[in-house]
Amino acid sequence: MRVGCPKEIKNHEYRVGLTPGAVREYVAHGHQVLIETGAGAGIGADDGAYIAAGARIAGSASDVFEKSDMIVKVKEPQPSEWVQLREGQILYTYLHLAPDPDQTKGLVESGVTAVAYETVTDDRGGLPLLAPMSEVAGRLAIQAGATALQKAHGGSGILLGGVPGVLPAKVAVIGGGVVGLHAARMAAGLGADVSIIDRSLPRLRQLDDLFAGRVHTVYSTIDDLEREVFAADLVIGAVLIPGAAAPKLVTRDMLSGMKEGSVIVDVAIDQGGCFETSHATTHSDPTYVVDGVVHYCVANMPGAVPVTSAHALNNATLMHGLALADRGLRAIAEDRHLRNGLNVHRGRITNRPVAEALGYEM
Ligand code: NAD
Repeated sequence: MRVGCPKEIKNHEYRVGLTPGAVREYVAHGHQVLIETGAGAGIGADDGAYIAAGARIAGSASDVFEKSDMIVKVKEPQPSEWVQLREGQILYTYLHLAPDPDQTKGLVESGVTAVAYETVTDDRGGLPLLAPMSEVAGRLAIQAGATALQKAHGGSGILLGGVPGVLPAKVAVIGGGVVGLHAARMAAGLGADVSIIDRSLPRLRQLDDLFAGRVHTVYSTIDDLEREVFAADLVIGAVLIPGAAAPKLVTRDMLSGMKEGSVIVDVAIDQGGCFETSHATTHSDPTYVVDGVVHYCVANMPGAVPVTSAHALNNATLMHGLALADRGLRAIAEDRHLRNGLNVHRGRITNRPVAEALGYEM
């Protein structure tokens, strides 16, 4: 198959759909790979790296769209991209169609076969192509929180790990899923005093086993949540109720009980946030203060570290991508997890939540 990867054109998107390492795998499977010139610049991979991996370089995005049977990207196609897609072509990327009627209409009208990273499933009921970005955001949340805690950034001026003779900071992680696990691991690694609050007892048992006493686990009731949040120097918001807006677990009233100069990092902001006082911020202006509490609410945290994020994403997308390139539509027919990823096919919506959200017939 001819596999193409255009340069991402969404604002501040520096990741790339195919790293040189991934290109080498596609080439080893006998595929031709076409990369738009400069596509890997944001992760430090120049055209020479792609040529060494076996790709050919295209001078423009239109060349890539025209000459490829399958397009591999990171973000949803933008209007100038979806008009270049066509029937018989496979698109493999994040789509997030439910809140995006315009893109959905564009993809339906193009006739393309679109597989969305975010709805591909695995045997354990997880979303394996979303997980790497949660891993990145969880780990980054502690770096962001540690920075915001510094006095010059508005924080109380406490060091997460303390030093010998001085107590470490207290970190409360609300939600012990993928983001929460990775945040807790980073915070514990830095020497902080960490609690994970979740409402799933099986998950708390797993976390307790995993951390072997290094991290406290707390069942999420209003009482216990309040106690942990009031005691914390850094609170990480990492809850998710699939398909729903994040519950506002920390209310505006509760802020007055928090320490002056404490920091919240609301990773769940992409689902509306789990603090009543959260609103989305950007990497160029990431924090604001309410009632003496510093809020960090960047909605696309992995964008800050495109090198790590692009490689983590490629690790997760590679096997299904190779299956699509090797077997085309048969790969979708034969693999229910890839079939769950299929959102649009030849002018029809094929994903029930997307169809229901936007009023399409399935
Ligand atoms: P996950 O499903 O792995 O974990 C969510 C956890 O929240 C689960 O363990 C669940 O039991 C717990 N939970 C649900 N309700 C709760 C409650 N009332 N109290 C305590 N815990 C509760 O999800 P995840 O992959 O860790 O993602 C967490 C959030 O981070 C999501 O909203 C996701 O979209 C977001 N996210 C944001 C960014 C970003 O850049 N801001 C990046 C990646 C993920």
